[in-house]
Amino acid sequence: MYLYNSLSHKKELFVPNRPGEVKMYTCGPTVYHYAHIGNLRSYIMEDVLEKYLRYAGYAVKRVMNITDVGHLTSDGDTGEDKMLKGAKREHKSVMDIAQFYTDAFFDDCRKLNIKRPDVVEPATHCIGEFIRIIQRLLERGYAYEAGGNIYFDTSKLDRYYVFNDFNEEDLAVGVRESVEEDANKRNKNDFVLWFTKSKFEDQALKWDSPWGVGYPGWHIECSGISMKHLGEDLDIHCGGIDNAFPHHTNEIAQSESYLGHKWCNYWFHVHHLNTNSGKMSKSTGEFLTVSLLEEKGYDPIAYRFFCLQSHYRKNLIFSYENLDNAAAAYNKLVDKIAALDPDDPSAVDAGIMEQLKARFTKALDADLNTSLAVTALYDVLKAKTNDATKLAALADFDTVLGLNLLSAADKKRRQKPQENEEHDPYIEELLAQRAAAKKEKNWAEADRIRDELKAQGIEIIDTPQGARWKRL
Ligand code: AMP
Ligand code: ZN
Repeated sequence: MYLYNSLSHKKELFVPNRPGEVKMYTCGPTVYHYAHIGNLRSYIMEDVLEKYLRYAGYAVKRVMNITDVGHLTSDGDTGEDKMLKGAKREHKSVMDIAQFYTDAFFDDCRKLNIKRPDVVEPATHCIGEFIRIIQRLLERGYAYEAGGNIYFDTSKLDRYYVFNDFNEEDLAVGVRESVEEDANKRNKNDFVLWFTKSKFEDQALKWDSPWGVGYPGWHIECSGISMKHLGEDLDIHCGGIDNAFPHHTNEIAQSESYLGHKWCNYWFHVHHLNTNSGKMSKSTGEFLTVSLLEEKGYDPIAYRFFCLQSHYRKNLIFSYENLDNAAAAYNKLVDKIAALDPDDPSAVDAGIMEQLKARFTKALDADLNTSLAVTALYDVLKAKTNDATKLAALADFDTVLGLNLLSAADKKRRQKPQENEEHDPYIEELLAQRAAAKKEKNWAEADRIRDELKAQGIEIIDTPQGARWKRL
């Protein structure tokens, strides 16, 4: 398989450190709010990568952190702690917020068929590991204490900006914009490994350390958690492209200074989901969640399909129109699969199966080209072979793509067109108005009609064939 490696800026043949085994690390969510569908784009694409590596025969061990401490409102280490901000917003404790949004994250993952990584570790469980790494960095002269905090000294590195060929000035502009200068730093890109209470008096979670009571910086947690579960080397590190700098750059700086050797070979970065007004982000408050899509009648798997239709290294523009197109294409695909005979007694044609598989693997071997892999599904449907072979190929490919193809088709086959309870021109008129409102994306009006009917004891049921109703 060829994968684009952000470290070398080119596509490289993927060769893990140990034959047949892959150690994979993923930056997990900061659990101060719901994940937005942009975050989930990254996790969907990483999920396909993991599943494809398993499909290709590798034993994968994948680790993910849960950021429940240390991520400040600016990636440059200033501002409030995001967790504390979430707790204040909702008048809850930081731990309650962390638990609630961790559960919500995995609920979303389940709906999107994103497999739970083998190890999921909250940062607050690994404080001892972080302290040990920081101690060694201090001993080796890679870190210093200033104003009560421990900083990583980026001037000690021969090469700090590993992911890009930008000069220092270009990069620093982006960082400086939102960051007030921290007078304790010896170099502008130095970052905090450990904060003490001297700087953040209101931090909710604090731990004792050789440098005083405090809490870890954000970057150290991914190095610490990765090493705790995967040891001193790593095959693939994943994350959204916004994490490349400073987060991943800092992870590499501290991990390799601590270990004294190269740490991770391949860096897999998923590009952003954008709206027409820019990157979808939690901090601007303008974000869409899986639950919101469901409320609007979308199957979360249609969103997964939407993501798979484009390459992970291209920005993807979200609009309801684009999602509608993907949902319609997904529905049509499932319809075609539902038209196959699940009881076809023919034997699977091994020769055809090989040919179909070859197209599928060729697509994914080429830097995880998921849109071509989706095209391979249509090739299956068009192939000159029996239904048993087609269904076997679709089931096989879906272990990677995770589109529920066979179960959704089964459901369609079983679904007899439901009749409404009775003919009622008043209700049918309202349903027609609601369908028109939905078509115009007038969600407020569609919701108002749903509520109006509900107040009269009538429930609307959205089905792929249109809205039905029943008396409650
Ligand atoms: P966070 O919860 O903010 O730590 O982010 C979780 C993951 O989502 C990280 O890998 C981010 O790089 C990624 N991410 C954030 N915003 C977007 C976006 N708009 N599109 C795709 N991935 C994103
Ligand atoms: Zn990370």
